[in-house]
Amino acid sequence: MTKTTSLADLSNNPSCQDDYDPNSMPVDKARQFIRQYLNAVRETESLPLRDSLGRILAEEILSPANVPNYDNSAMDGYAFNAADIDLVLPTHLKVVGTAFAGKAFAGVVAQGECVRIMTGAAIPEGADTVVVQEKVSLDADNITFNEAPKPRANVRYTGEDLQLGQTVLEQGHLMCPADLGLAASLGIAQVQVYRKLKVAFFSTGDELVALGQPLQIGQVYDSNRYTLYGMLKRLGLELIDLGAIADDPALLEQTLLDAASRSDVVITSGGVSVGEADYMKQLLAKHGQVMFWKMAMKPGRPLAYGKVGNAHYFGLPGNPVAVMVTFYQFVREALLRLMGQTKPEVLPMFNVECTQPIKKLTGRTEYQRGILFTNANGDWCVKPTGAQGSALLSSMSLANCFIVLDEATGNIEAGAKVQVQPLHGII
Ligand code: AMP
Ligand code: MG
Repeated sequence: MTKTTSLADLSNNPSCQDDYDPNSMPVDKARQFIRQYLNAVRETESLPLRDSLGRILAEEILSPANVPNYDNSAMDGYAFNAADIDLVLPTHLKVVGTAFAGKAFAGVVAQGECVRIMTGAAIPEGADTVVVQEKVSLDADNITFNEAPKPRANVRYTGEDLQLGQTVLEQGHLMCPADLGLAASLGIAQVQVYRKLKVAFFSTGDELVALGQPLQIGQVYDSNRYTLYGMLKRLGLELIDLGAIADDPALLEQTLLDAASRSDVVITSGGVSVGEADYMKQLLAKHGQVMFWKMAMKPGRPLAYGKVGNAHYFGLPGNPVAVMVTFYQFVREALLRLMGQTKPEVLPMFNVECTQPIKKLTGRTEYQRGILFTNANGDWCVKPTGAQGSALLSSMSLANCFIVLDEATGNIEAGAKVQVQPLHGII
């Protein structure tokens, strides 16, 4: 794919591009298609440092100073000059003062002398090396040590962490806990970030019932809006929850247009397959430029992406597990890009042994719900959560990873290696 095909061309005339088959869309290709149409928000706001957690930097942060900005001790011990003294062991030095963190030793360390020094205290003039206190014996004002530390040992040098003027955080960076500390270590109290992305979402289906209402035969509680809420909330977005909308063309039209006019992104669940009451497809064709795909994946077969007015639109399947899988595989990255993140982190995948056999057809990517665990040897292994139906939300709740079986993969035997994608990050 070299040239970007307009959404209008692609949604009106799917055959306009050679390698584009909406009825059997590979996961990677769908991701690439979506990526072409994502332009990040531009508006920015200035926030107190702490409030920038989870937000995307709209400015490059350069180091306004060296960090640390003075040579200091990494250990409690004694500071002396390695070159000045004769390191014939054992070495004897006279203690001429003390340097505390925040309270430097004002004098100069002469030959044959040392200064008692605490972690974080400035290295006094004349000294360049610290011997740790555990290696020293102290007798009145004199120390003796039998083991010579390497010259410059146990010293944290000026600019060792960050040098004056260097790029510390790039524009488009997602602010994480370490970044708050990093910016704080530079004395930066206020940062410029992109504004919050506004996401409107609603469920579709006559069978959906709100929590608090009794359930009749043929009805289900609207769980998708709860999983979506959770996944969206974690990304730090501004949410507009438009509820569960019955399969009524007029209501759906009104809600869709309302959603698109108030948000940057509209997400719906259900109604994008080709069932009798699936009006969303007609409405989207009327009001938007939307591509409808049958994904070569399981779960998550029907998926729609496009634009309605200026809003990006994601039409997720109705089945509860399919909602979560398609969200994590397509929507998450797209939202991060729209939020302004230039290089969304690729979700890590790694190979581990699968302790149970898995039945799998080639020709589609499967996202089985898995449990990563350590076996008796302490090695990480994975097993499926059990039944894998795309309506079984309990499988998602039990899982701590996806077992990702690509298109080329067929049945898996117990003991074979499979790729896993953890669901939980450390931060
Ligand atoms: P659909 O794609 O609209 O045909 O829906 C596929 C399946 O997902 C059906 O069994 C629906 O009842 C179910 N479903 C759709 N939306 C929801 C929802 N919001 N919460 C729970 N289940 C849903
Ligand atoms: Mg439906």
